[in-house]
Amino acid sequence: MFFGKKNKNSTNVADSLKNEQAKSDIILASIDDGVVLLDATGVIRLFNPAAENITGWSAKDAIGLDHQSVLKFINGKGEAYAPIQNPLNKTLQNKTPSRDSQSSLKTNSERIIPIAISVSPLGQDIGQAGGVVAVFRDVTTERQHEKQSAEFISTASHEMRTPVAAIEGYLALALNEKVATVDAKAREYLVKAHLSTVHLGNLFQDLLTASKSEDGRLSNHPVVIDMGEFLQQITSDIKFTAEKKGLTLEFLIGGGDKSVSASDGNQRVIRPLFYVNADPERLREIVTNLFDNAVKYSEKGRITVGLTGNDSVVQFRISDTGQGIPSTDIAHLFQKFYRVDNSATRVIGGTGLGLFICKKIVELYGGRIWVDSKLGEGSTFFINLPRISSADKSNLEQQMASTINPSEPTQTVDTPRGVIQ
Ligand code: ADP
Repeated sequence: MFFGKKNKNSTNVADSLKNEQAKSDIILASIDDGVVLLDATGVIRLFNPAAENITGWSAKDAIGLDHQSVLKFINGKGEAYAPIQNPLNKTLQNKTPSRDSQSSLKTNSERIIPIAISVSPLGQDIGQAGGVVAVFRDVTTERQHEKQSAEFISTASHEMRTPVAAIEGYLALALNEKVATVDAKAREYLVKAHLSTVHLGNLFQDLLTASKSEDGRLSNHPVVIDMGEFLQQITSDIKFTAEKKGLTLEFLIGGGDKSVSASDGNQRVIRPLFYVNADPERLREIVTNLFDNAVKYSEKGRITVGLTGNDSVVQFRISDTGQGIPSTDIAHLFQKFYRVDNSATRVIGGTGLGLFICKKIVELYGGRIWVDSKLGEGSTFFINLPRISSADKSNLEQQMASTINPSEPTQTVDTPRGVIQ
């Protein structure tokens, strides 16, 4: 009787397990997305039919192989991912979910397919501790749409910039007392029209820059820049904008100042030279964007432009004593068109593209941008860029000189004014 009962229970469990397995198989076979399961060593243990369709590998061949021999990731430039960039490796190592929507996969027949992938660690409870599950799909159509819409935005903003510049110019002429006479009421309307046209012109310019920064068309002619001198120059150009609003502007250069004995016996301070290799126009864009924001979003107090660094990094920052940014908005700040929604930003004009453009430019040079902010107290935007040593500066400048005019002997490079450790 006991055995009979036990046998009946075991059969039920076995049946229900079989049923569960059959259900999972049906679900995995019907899903349109590729599903791949890896064990803790990165070996493929499950490969559903959609994964077979996308990759061109059969489950029979893929199962038992290391994931990197089957799922070959390619970046936007067509280069293979380094193992550390691979989202599956990231989750295997860190046991935290990872996503990638910018990569492509090289199929078994060497075709490149744009994909979006999300990888999650497997929990202990399903007996696969350390393994991961990846879900991915072919996003060829989405990427084509994105490309078309980016091209449309880029062409439209390019075409509209010219007539908008003409309107802005004529409105400025109409407001110029030397060339036109208008009554007070008309002047008031013209001033408003002029302001809106300037805003429209900025919007088109930002749209154009943003779309170029996304598809790699942003012009980039890097040269070695002494950030101290560069920031000092920009600071003196923009000082007026801050002072007009009653804000003080200060420039702090620091981090590793050295006191040395000069030949006259006096102590002199030698400031470290913070060199970076970047296009000055692009850097100017970043600094003016951050500075304009600091002015726009501060009613009183001080704006500080700071520069510091270590052996490998140059860090500059722009701080303000303005309204600050709510912590819930910080994670989204560098997204396209994102603006903090509050009464102040509704009045203060903006496109929500400035910080997105800054991030794209900083990333172009292998750097990082982030913000620290306290609501009601102010914000500091930090930028880290790779630092160029004096020796690398000379090498880069010699390379550049020989590229510009290979037949002429290379120029002697200026003796650096400071010391880099
Ligand atoms: P916008 O054209 O709206 O200024 P940005 O991309 O430059 O666009 O900035 C995005 C949003 O970030 C802004 O709308 C604003 O809400 C917030 N923000 C940026 N800089 C500051 C700052 N210095 N202080 C407070 N808020 C800021």
